[in-house]
Amino acid sequence: MPATRLFQTSEQSLREYLRAAQVRACRAAAAGKVSAQVPALAEVDPTRFAMAVATVDGAEAHIGESDARFSIQSLSKLFALCALLRHEPDAWSAVGWGPSDAGYGSVADLEHNQWRPRNPFVNSGALVVTDRLLMHSGDTVAATVELLGGRTVAASDARVAQSETATDHRNSAIAHVLAEHGRLINPIDVLLPQYFAQCAITASVRTLARAALFLADKDGDRAVLDPETVRRVNAVLLMSGMYGAAGDIAYRIGLPAKSGIGGGVLAVMPGRGTVCVWSPPLDSAGNSAGGVAAIEEFARRAGWSVF
Ligand code: GLU
Repeated sequence: MPATRLFQTSEQSLREYLRAAQVRACRAAAAGKVSAQVPALAEVDPTRFAMAVATVDGAEAHIGESDARFSIQSLSKLFALCALLRHEPDAWSAVGWGPSDAGYGSVADLEHNQWRPRNPFVNSGALVVTDRLLMHSGDTVAATVELLGGRTVAASDARVAQSETATDHRNSAIAHVLAEHGRLINPIDVLLPQYFAQCAITASVRTLARAALFLADKDGDRAVLDPETVRRVNAVLLMSGMYGAAGDIAYRIGLPAKSGIGGGVLAVMPGRGTVCVWSPPLDSAGNSAGGVAAIEEFARRAGWSVF
């Protein structure tokens, strides 16, 4: 069979899996609740849905509003981390890599770990990542947007950034505690606006699935990071990318994944591809209820699991 034929067949199966995933997602989303942590995000229509898959051999499929841009929020922590690791492969010593059973905004956990963040996906770790990336790049939004594919596909939404700036106390408290213990390089009033603007980046599920392919294709042409770093990023994602639900996600799905309070979830199947969902209502763990259900259904049908 010619290679093109195989390629088309595979995209057709991917589309079938996406249709089944959408059905599951719609049911699950009905039980979730759109986050009000950033007031501007609470206005999003809970019925919105998009899903895209990209494979390392070049196949792509998508369903729903796959070109609509949404607020990536904590998904930006993954791209900012990868951008930092390009400058500073040893940044792990500043942000840690182990799991945490405390909430992602926990100050107590920081104290218990002698003021070193547990990992780059809790907010203390993400602030340290942004701080160091700011030192290397001068603009963490630009560095993150570049990794996402550039300004035509991703940009920061000033209204969302402003909404978080006006209501946030927690990140500000964490930044002060980090500064008190000498963990920050930049002044807090420089760091926090960068961090909020970075969380407020908007991109589509197609853009995110494509941009993350380097995490699935460690030996391919898309090498953004060296294979050892890619392996480490995926390991930390598996343990810490889904707030307190990492064990549940490993058990149900078995893929490294990252979610954000905007309702996005991005999962990686090493050697195969990436899948990204946007469904705004969140479950009790803070992950997109529809997004988790959709990825579970997709992964089961596609046979994607690292285990
Ligand atoms: N901007 C939010 C924060 O830093 C992002 C939270 C999230 O998506 O987990 O608290």
